[in-house]
Amino acid sequence: MLEGLVGGLTDIIYPNKCPACKTKVVGRWHDHFLCGHCRSKIKKNLPPFCHSCGRRLSKSGFAKNICPSCQKARMHFDRAFSPFTYEGPIKEVIHEFKYRGKDYLGKPLSRMMIDFVREYNIGAHLMDSVVAVPLSKARLREREFNQAHILAVHIGQAFNKEVLSDVLCRSRHTLTQTELKPEERLANVKDSFLVISPAAVNGKNLILVDDVLTTGATSSEAARALKDAGANIVFVLTLAN
Ligand SMILES: [Zn+2]
Ligand SMILES: [Zn+2]
Repeated sequence: MLEGLVGGLTDIIYPNKCPACKTKVVGRWHDHFLCGHCRSKIKKNLPPFCHSCGRRLSKSGFAKNICPSCQKARMHFDRAFSPFTYEGPIKEVIHEFKYRGKDYLGKPLSRMMIDFVREYNIGAHLMDSVVAVPLSKARLREREFNQAHILAVHIGQAFNKEVLSDVLCRSRHTLTQTELKPEERLANVKDSFLVISPAAVNGKNLILVDDVLTTGATSSEAARALKDAGANIVFVLTLAN
């Protein structure tokens, strides 16, 4: 009875539509928030993973455990992990979550990240706290919420880790990375993060959460600020790469 009532309310609060292709989803939205077609089209990120950026290694990178692009430019984080590749339905959903104000997508999306951490035994038990990659104040006003923070809160809850909010911030406004060429992205975000309370991260092993890892420049710079402030290990966890 209560189950039915909660299910009914969920239907009212959350649109029963697939956020990727907008067709009606049959069944409980939370269990199947994507339609069957989009679920089958999502591209999982599969091992072997690059021991730096977390992308699937091709044959050429396999011997060194590090992909060619990470061999060229070393990242400041220790390792990054993503359950999906950034294309198809997952790209659509992330777009809806990030730019169309659909904060309720944070729960099912973070669940997929949590499942990935459990499936690949990523060592959440070794981590102390969770930190979200922050937005600049101007961008936060524009979007009204930080999508990475929403993901971080769910991930923190799942692994019983403290979420450190207001610890890391943007020290200056940067251009949107998606509008820049890959080679311009590092310069755009370089030295753009600031740790407000170094004592909160000093000696800690941190899970740094963001929605997408593309060139890795943003996560790498955020990790650098955390490490400069004394963080021990920084693992990056994103939805897609
Ligand atoms: Zn769909
Ligand atoms: Zn790599």
